[in-house]
Amino acid sequence: MARNLDPNSARPATLAIHGGERPDPATGASSPNIVMSSTYVTDRPEGFSASELTEDSPFVYGRWGNPTVRALEEKMALLEGAEACACYGSGMAAASAILLSLLSSGDHVILPDVCYAGIAELGRDTLPRFGISVTKVNTSRAEDVAAAMRPETKLVFLDTPCNPLIRLTDIAEIARIARGNGALVAVDNTFASPIGTNPLSLGADLVMHSLTKYVGGHGDAIGGCVCASAELIRKLTIEATVHYGGVMSPFNAWLIARGAATLPLRMRAHQENALALGEFLESHPKIESVLYPGLPSHPQHNLAAMQMNNFSGMMSFRVKGDGRSTAEAVAANLKIAHYAVSLGHQRTLVCYMPTDDLLASSFLLNTEQESDYRRFAGEGVFRLSVGLEHVQDLMADLDAVL
Ligand SMILES: *Cc1c(COP(=O)(O)O)cnc(C)c1O
Repeated sequence: MARNLDPNSARPATLAIHGGERPDPATGASSPNIVMSSTYVTDRPEGFSASELTEDSPFVYGRWGNPTVRALEEKMALLEGAEACACYGSGMAAASAILLSLLSSGDHVILPDVCYAGIAELGRDTLPRFGISVTKVNTSRAEDVAAAMRPETKLVFLDTPCNPLIRLTDIAEIARIARGNGALVAVDNTFASPIGTNPLSLGADLVMHSLTKYVGGHGDAIGGCVCASAELIRKLTIEATVHYGGVMSPFNAWLIARGAATLPLRMRAHQENALALGEFLESHPKIESVLYPGLPSHPQHNLAAMQMNNFSGMMSFRVKGDGRSTAEAVAANLKIAHYAVSLGHQRTLVCYMPTDDLLASSFLLNTEQESDYRRFAGEGVFRLSVGLEHVQDLMADLDAVL
């Protein structure tokens, strides 16, 4: 923390820069050093069990904690308004930290019917092997979540806006339902970023990010984090950090913290470009429909305006005619945007997500869920992560390939 920063009064733009960071006491360096050491010299003999770790334990060993990673954890906790944060080697490591540390054999978890594919597949293939039962629910319908609750439901996991439908879930409403049933709520906040939504302030118990996306923001570092109460993070630290061991490298923490400093500024620019590009696409003769929470045409625009302080840069669109052949032309002929997976970078990224393929691989949905999915996505959507290039250059790039 900068010498006089008061985290309670400083605003996100200030916290993003100064949160977790202090001038180096040894050298006066204004920018943070990277601490790469894997082990630490201690003044007295320290214990060897993770359960002895406390918040003010000295650094002992790199898997238990690292000063550069700790600084990013403090920054993310401040940006999410959380007591504590734990960083992991990837967004998936953060998701599995939540699901495997908080659930046991005999427990039940509610997962979104449509969410990040890795999490959908973890819920389908891995959790049941450990005796954890999973119900997939379209969480945009609160009544479906309420109907799926059981006495042994320990966790409701949400992803909003969700991939690739840009469908929203009302976090406050689901949190009320879950609390009434004694279940925790975790939110994958990757698409909204902490600048768009702070799920803990809406009643969620845990929030996770793939830091690979908006927070790192430059497409050069994989990482993840979970923000929650100190008590929940302590549980995750003992199990996932120390025992499963999927920790973040100090170098990646340094890169991601450097990216995070400009997150508030970038999110404003992502939103501005996305709004302009969304309007351009909506009026384009080759475009069937556009899904962007910031546009009045989004079926949940009112919820988006209530729940999101920034609409982010993620949108999906459908083209008229055959999506697959358009995708081939788009991939072959784009001059600026990259045809690539991932999102949240300074560069615009676009990829095609064919409905039949996704429904057959990652999402195995029931009939009603499948028809909801097709209503949003048709035969397939282009997922567009609007970057920070000049918006007129992006319009020309897309116009030329559509
Ligand atoms: C990318 C992503 C993940 C997984 O993060 P990795 O850093 O790739 O492991 C999880 N959830 C969402 C919404 C994502 O976009």
